[in-house]
Order: sequence, then structure tokens, then C-alpha cells
Amino acid sequence: MPQVIDRPTPAKATTKTRYIPNATAPRTPDNEEPAAERMKDFRPIDKGFTIQMALAEANRCLDCKRPLCITGCPVNIKIPQFIKKIRAQDFGGALDIIHEDSMLPAICGRVCPQESQCEGKCILGKRGNPIAIGQLERFVGDKPELASKPVIEAAKHKKVAVVGSGPSGITCAGELVRRGFDVTVFEAFFTGGGVLVYGIPEFRLPKAVVKREIDALTQLGVKFEYNSVVGRISTAQELFEKGFDAMYVATGAGLPKLLHIPGENLPGVFFANEYLTRVNLMKAKDFPHYDTPTKHGKNVIVFGGGNVAMDAVRTAKRLGAEHAIIAYRRTEKEMPASKAELHNAKAEGVEVMPLVSPVEFLAGEKGFVRAARVQKMKLGEPDASGRRRPEPIEGAFEDIPCDVAISAIGTNANPLAKMVANYKLNKWGYIETDENGHTSEARIWAGGDIVTGSATVILAMGAGKTAAKAIDETLS
Ligand code: FAD
Ligand code: SF4
Repeated sequence: MPQVIDRPTPAKATTKTRYIPNATAPRTPDNEEPAAERMKDFRPIDKGFTIQMALAEANRCLDCKRPLCITGCPVNIKIPQFIKKIRAQDFGGALDIIHEDSMLPAICGRVCPQESQCEGKCILGKRGNPIAIGQLERFVGDKPELASKPVIEAAKHKKVAVVGSGPSGITCAGELVRRGFDVTVFEAFFTGGGVLVYGIPEFRLPKAVVKREIDALTQLGVKFEYNSVVGRISTAQELFEKGFDAMYVATGAGLPKLLHIPGENLPGVFFANEYLTRVNLMKAKDFPHYDTPTKHGKNVIVFGGGNVAMDAVRTAKRLGAEHAIIAYRRTEKEMPASKAELHNAKAEGVEVMPLVSPVEFLAGEKGFVRAARVQKMKLGEPDASGRRRPEPIEGAFEDIPCDVAISAIGTNANPLAKMVANYKLNKWGYIETDENGHTSEARIWAGGDIVTGSATVILAMGAGKTAAKAIDETLS
């Protein structure tokens, strides 16, 4: 018999009169801390909508007959329906609707690139005023106590191992435990969340929000085994011999791409993932209360133009950098970072240096990095990505003084993935799967960044959900 845990009664809808949207009202601004204040520490920069702000924003939604916002969401959350519930002040009902498609709204509301997804498609965006869907999602996501309790299917007496506790692994684990499976998540680190805890800084995504999601999974019965590197402690085959019936591999793509330039190994030169892990996970920001130190540079230069580069440079600012530069080989217009992150970084005093590419890091007298030598670039014809290709300007070099340099030019597949099992990898080391996440090995599925390459939280979650359904169909 399915186990149905008690469902609280939703708040009553307040009105049955015909809905007239307040579509001419301006978009409700984010509830941000002023830049000068938030720069003092790692506090979240955004306090989230109050009830009044959420209602004002929900009242702008046109409740479109053909809601384009849904087509922009990678997991097709029923956006107008949950916004309607917010209007009726049934916040638990709104959360239940989101939960049908996404289990992590408090996280996705904070970090999804809405401007290029749901909000990018919202009809009101044509007038530059899309509904603040991310803020509304976060608003209800922060009220997990109002959601209906999940229905747990009858026990299937089958064990599934999930490798990696990033958004893909925990979504798959959550789906499987609800479907009646006995699920164990193996995680290499001492805590769960993957990039959500070691990469994305506290000021964008508080660790308490991630912990809340992991705790909720534990309460549903998911077991977590930390400090467990699958491939080293046991292979997939060994776990199957210990009684597991299937495995989902979600080990991410955390291996930094090298610049392959002289001076890359100098003290003071970091990879963004290493720098952010030191500060976020190992709490180098609170040294000496925590053991891990990191260099607090006064002049910091970060190479890259994505969200990872923005996180690194804004972290450096909070660690006391007087000059913090984002150096990018194209211009601001071509930067892959979300517009909001670039805007926030600039508001916090980050300088943008366009059209430069690093060619060497130069050492000072004591052997520490003292400057980054950059080559100046110009934009040529568009490349395969549709963006204009950066081309070197012959003989144009400049030395930029710095005491910390950070490379944020991308990552590669986690090499540990190939030690887990003998499934087929592509030439870059990512796991090959079919559309359901099934690998070339019979009982092994995979998803998230280790399949797609560095992508987004919502896509990693979507892959976990798809694979859970396929595992259920296969094992049941
Ligand atoms: P991960 O989150 O990488 O998790 C993989 C987990 O597997 C890790 O915990 C790792 O320790 C564990 N693991 C690896 N190997 C093993 C093993 N052999 N055994 C056991 N455990 C193992 N996306 C957005 O949508 N919005 C953003 O704002 C955003 N900002 C980002 C900022 C940074 C700094 C970074 C690095 C990424 C950002 N991303 C963002 C991308 C997003 O975080 C990733 O796409 C997403 O986390 C991928 O999820 P995943 O579960 O596949 O892998
Ligand atoms: Fe509301 Fe915009 Fe979606 Fe229309 S497209 S339903 S206005 S959020």
C-alpha cells in the first residue's frame, strides 16, 4: 500500500471575481542589500520578496492562454498556475505545483539563469518588464513547511547507489526514494550539495538552503555516505556484488581547464574551482578559526566571463581586494555570465577589462605572481557559437600587476568517472548515455555535468529526474 503522509489544508482562495492583471505596473525590484553594506561580508545579497512584493508581482502576470514562460523553463514548471496560487495566497499550493516538476525551487529560484529561460520568454519581456519568476519561485521555495507531504510508494525492496550529491544526484535520489527504492548517495566530500556548496558562494546561495534540502531527503529515508569516492572505495561492480541493483552516476565536471601558459604554477595563481572551494567549503574566509588558508590579494585579476568568473572576483572583493578585475577575451556583450551577475559585480566595484587574453604569469622577487602578461585582442567574424571570434592583435601586450590571478576559463569531465565502471565515454571523457540517461552498462545510468559538460543546476536536476523514472521502469 502506498504510504500517504498527512497533507495540510491549503489556505482558502480569497476571491472568485474575474482576474484583471495589473500589467502596466513596473516589475517589482529585487530586495537587495546596498552594495556598500553587502560587501562587508558573505551575507546573501538579496533578502527575497516580502508577501506584499510577491503579491504585487503575481498580480502583474497576464495568466496567458499560451504561456511562453513554460516553454522557456527546461523542466516546464507550470508557471502561471503557481503564480495564480500566490495571488490566492495559497503558498503551499504554489509549492506543490512547482514540486510536480522541480524539487529544488529555493535553489533554482536563486541561481537559475531566468533571463535566458522563463523570464526571457515571458510576454511582458517584450516591453523589458518580464515577471520576476525566479523571485516568486524562491519566495514559495523558502516556505517548505507549507508544501503537502510527499507520497511514498510501497517499498520495492531494490537498492540504488547514487554517486555524487550535486543537484543531479540528490534529485535522482529524491525521486527514487518516493518511488519506494532503498537509496544510498555516495559523496566524495565530507558534506552534500556538490557545486551548490563548494562552488556557488554563500552571498548567492546560502549553505543553509542546501542543507535544508539534504536534510529533507534524509528524513525521507535517503542514506548519505560521505568521504566515499566511488571508483576508489568500491567500483560499480563491487557495489552490485554488495547488493545494489542499479546505479546513477552524477560526478560533475569539476576538473579545471589549464591555460597551458608559463607561470601557471606560481604561488598566487589559482583555478577558480580551487579558490572557491577553499573559501566556501573549507571556510578559508574564516581562517584562522578554520584550518585552510588562502591568499587575500589586494590586486586580483580573474580570467573568464562566465558565472564562475563572477563568483571568483566577487569573492576576492569580499576578501579585501582593492582592485578586482574581470579580464575577458571578448567584450561585455559576449560574456556568458548572466546579466544580473555582471551587474552585481560592477555594482560591487569590479572592473571589467575586455579584449585581453593571458599569455604568461610573471614572478616577483620572492617567487610569487606579480603580474599577468596579456595579449590584446580584437573581434573577428562570428564562430560556431554565433559570437564574434577574438583574434590577437600582433605585438600588443601589457603587464597587469596582480598578487592573485584566477583562471576561470572552464572545466573538464571529472576523471574519477572512468574509474567507477566500464561504460562508454566520449573523446572528452564525458559518459555517453541515451535520452533516458542509460549508459552502455546494463544497470548504470548517468546525468548532469558528467554527461552534458558544464551546464546548469536545472538541467542537472532534469537529468536526475529522467533517470529515476527510467530506473524505476527497468527495475520494477
Ligand atoms: P556537481 O554539482 O559537480 O556535483 C558532483 C558531485 O559528485 C560533487 O559533490 C563531487 O564531490 C561528487 N563526486 C565526484 N566524483 C565522485 C566519486 N567518484 N564518488 C563520489 N562522489 C563523487 N548553474 C546555474 O544554473 N546557475 C548558476 O548560477 C551557476 N553558478 C555556478 C558557479 C560555479 C562557481 C560553478 C562551478 C558552477 C555553477 N553553475 C551554475 C553550474 C552548476 O552548478 C552545475 O551545472 C551543477 O552543479 C551540475 O550538477 P551535478 O550534480 O551534475 O554535479
Ligand atoms: Fe505570466 Fe509572463 Fe508566463 Fe504570461 S508569459 S503567464 S505574463 S509569466
